[in-house]
Amino acid sequence: MAGLIQVRERPRTAPVTTTPSYTITDNGNTTMKVVVRIRPESQAESSSGAAIITRVLDSHVLVFDPKPENLPSFNSPLNIFKKRAPILGRKHRDLRFAFDRIFDETSTQRDVFEESTKNIAESVLDGVNCSVFAYGATGAGKTHTMLGAAGSPGVIFHTMLELYRCIGRLKDEKCFEVAVSYCEVYNETIRDLLNCTIDGGSLELREDSKHGLVVSRLSRHQPKTAEELLGMLESGNKNRTQHPTDANATSSRSHAVFQVYVHQRPRTAAITAQMTCAKLSLIDLAGSERATVTTNRGARLREGANINKSLLALGNCINALAENKTKSVHIPYRNSKLTRLLKDSLGGNCRTVMIANISPSSLTYEDTYNTLKYADRAKQIKTKVVRNVLNVEFHVSRYRVIVHELQQEIAELKCKLADGIKPPPPVVKQPPETSDESKRLQDLVRRVYGERLRLRKHMVDLDTQERETLLRICRKVDQNAAYYISPFQL
Ligand code: ADP
Ligand code: MG
Repeated sequence: MAGLIQVRERPRTAPVTTTPSYTITDNGNTTMKVVVRIRPESQAESSSGAAIITRVLDSHVLVFDPKPENLPSFNSPLNIFKKRAPILGRKHRDLRFAFDRIFDETSTQRDVFEESTKNIAESVLDGVNCSVFAYGATGAGKTHTMLGAAGSPGVIFHTMLELYRCIGRLKDEKCFEVAVSYCEVYNETIRDLLNCTIDGGSLELREDSKHGLVVSRLSRHQPKTAEELLGMLESGNKNRTQHPTDANATSSRSHAVFQVYVHQRPRTAAITAQMTCAKLSLIDLAGSERATVTTNRGARLREGANINKSLLALGNCINALAENKTKSVHIPYRNSKLTRLLKDSLGGNCRTVMIANISPSSLTYEDTYNTLKYADRAKQIKTKVVRNVLNVEFHVSRYRVIVHELQQEIAELKCKLADGIKPPPPVVKQPPETSDESKRLQDLVRRVYGERLRLRKHMVDLDTQERETLLRICRKVDQNAAYYISPFQL
């Protein structure tokens, strides 16, 4: 089997060398970052006495279905592997997998965020499209990882806080516009989770050369703060389709796609400006499930079939992309709405993190094996990352706005200086009127620039002071985040 290492000897603890995540070559090529999270055993799993089939060797390597005699502590009386029931129908013994990071049962939500998505925020602000998606069987912990639970918010929450923290650091230099949308793919239809009043509920996918893939009529909202944004996420979650299944009492039966669009431009108005825009997609997939092992009937069975259809399509895309060394392989994105939505995240201009979730119990033997197999293939997927930068040269008609913005900035700088101990700077002199309006405005822009430069020098001292205040605010936000009770109801 391609990519898997069949271990015939005793597993060694020496780390397997893995490609460092996010190695971007000169031409922007990067590989998908794949991390695996093993959730703790559920009550039902531990009381069933089922065996444990995952063993983490180090932060990069795990063994699937290890031979008990190969386990270091097999002869210890405390060895839990001895007491468990034998595994029936085991087909894949002692397989060793290597990933960018493996999080064992003891890992916290913060650990997962710190080592899988924390630097995503910086990339988004650098103008790079990014995606994070959770993959795995029903009940493996995808929703827990992405959205979290009351008192233990997930990766989306922490990544958003980090994004706003980074924006806070840069807001003196740049103007930001943040917009969000949240939709779900349920039974092959797309629904807006932030505006459920749309007629018919079902939205269409369109693709054009300028904007790429867009969901038409999907509402976009502009939160001012991280708290407002998280409020939107929470209310969207309440609208999400979920039904209890055998594998998970609060099973999310839809794929949820939360997207954040960040536009930025230099704060100081100028005749030319470099604008950047980037999209961050955070995706909680519905879990795959095998109809033969569930007792789902009727609507649940139909839902399951649709979920499986889209996940099968996703699996086929992952396989095709992993083999796509020559660019001649057809990638079947069009086989489901989910894969069309994820087209950019999987094979386009995007930096992508896949969080594969698994259970440690032998009760999910085949599901865990399949998840690890697809995650292993996904490591080979290459994307090409390009910064979305637009150089804009403004028309003369915008000069008035530029002058106005510069004067506003100067007024703000003066206020800040007045708060400090420095002497107030001289007043801006109005330039003489000339007959040529455009020349006059150009002169004015130049003068105002000179003025701004002078004021900036005074600002150096105040800047240090302000950064300290900002840090204090960030720490406060962090503390609040720790106590933030978010009733994510999925
Ligand atoms: P999925 O979205 O993959 O179907 P969930 O995220 O809903 O699965 O998780 C199923 C159950 O397992 C939930 O009750 C959840 O709280 C619990 N769970 C999942 N991962 C963890 C974890 N890392 N720590 C504690 N509980 C977890
Ligand atoms: Mg879920």
